[in-house]
Amino acid sequence: MSIGNLTINLKGISNNWTALDQLSAKKVETAAVVKADGYGLDAGRVAQALYQAGVRQFFVAAAEEAAAIRMEITEDVNIFIFSGHMRGDTEIIHDLNLIPLLNSFNQLTRHVETLPGYPFGVQLDTGMNRLGMEPSEWDAVREMVITLKPELVMSHLACADEPDHPMNQKQLNIFRSMTDGLNLKRSLSATGGILLGPNYHFDMTRPGIGLYGGFPFSDSNQVIQLSLPVIQIRDIEIGETVGYGCTWKADVPSRIATVAAGYADGLMRTISSKGKVWAGDKVCQIAGRVSMDMIGVDITHLEYDPNDLEIISKYQNIDDLAGMAGTIGYEILTSLGSRYNRRYVSE
Ligand SMILES: *Cc1c(COP(=O)(O)O)cnc(C)c1O
Repeated sequence: MSIGNLTINLKGISNNWTALDQLSAKKVETAAVVKADGYGLDAGRVAQALYQAGVRQFFVAAAEEAAAIRMEITEDVNIFIFSGHMRGDTEIIHDLNLIPLLNSFNQLTRHVETLPGYPFGVQLDTGMNRLGMEPSEWDAVREMVITLKPELVMSHLACADEPDHPMNQKQLNIFRSMTDGLNLKRSLSATGGILLGPNYHFDMTRPGIGLYGGFPFSDSNQVIQLSLPVIQIRDIEIGETVGYGCTWKADVPSRIATVAAGYADGLMRTISSKGKVWAGDKVCQIAGRVSMDMIGVDITHLEYDPNDLEIISKYQNIDDLAGMAGTIGYEILTSLGSRYNRRYVSE
């Protein structure tokens, strides 16, 4: 078989949630962010596993993404929508019983006109300039909004994975000044914010990447493993090259394995001749450019011909791979293609 094997440990994800939940006080509710199809790992399966672990609050980016969760869990969970109530969303918000986080006066108007009396939350912008009502906009509607009893008011930190960044305290102050004394349920922190400490926790936290084993939650369990079958092995002479563009050239007689996965499977071209894969505990260098469906690997130093090589394993996590690719663990996860043979385990 010439497709990679991607193993996803659902128990690892729920253990990560439990560990994050324990970092805040008991009265703080820990939600779970399962946008982008559960960071590429299957929102329905991930949500089901997290539900078993105790999660009752889920967040997705777009209303359509909630369908996968409602298929698994019909009752007693809230599903919040970061993008709020967009034109065309009214029916799905109603039918799937979703809670849009209203981002503007426009969205607020749409919600109260099309679904009067239906639940909603409010997203505030405290400096990231991405989503949410600005302080002046919030001032104008706040009194009216309070009478409608929003489920949640939230904001999002721009630099929470850099604990010393002054933006964190600045956004905290702005969030407090916009919401103190209103007696509404509040949420400010994703994974990074949880690690900043209790001042940042408020009533609900919203971890995403930490559930899936990524930075900045360095105590997390790795939850995926990616093993790639070797399709062919050949010996090459000094001066011969490997792959498109002839960018890798043998300095010594070399043995090259052609491995089944490429940029169509989320292995970025930026790891060409730079990334590493593993034969058990032995590291091997990628040789030449990443192709669409394959990569070349220098296995000259191995004492045997491997059947498979691992690119995400206990020796190399998503952040290690991200570092070599010049990106972040989030992008590695959400780029994993649909071609892998996916195996879900709970152990
Ligand atoms: C993605 C996202 C989260 C989760 O962030 P992580 O860094 O993955 O924990 C939380 N809140 C908002 C608004 C987001 O966009």
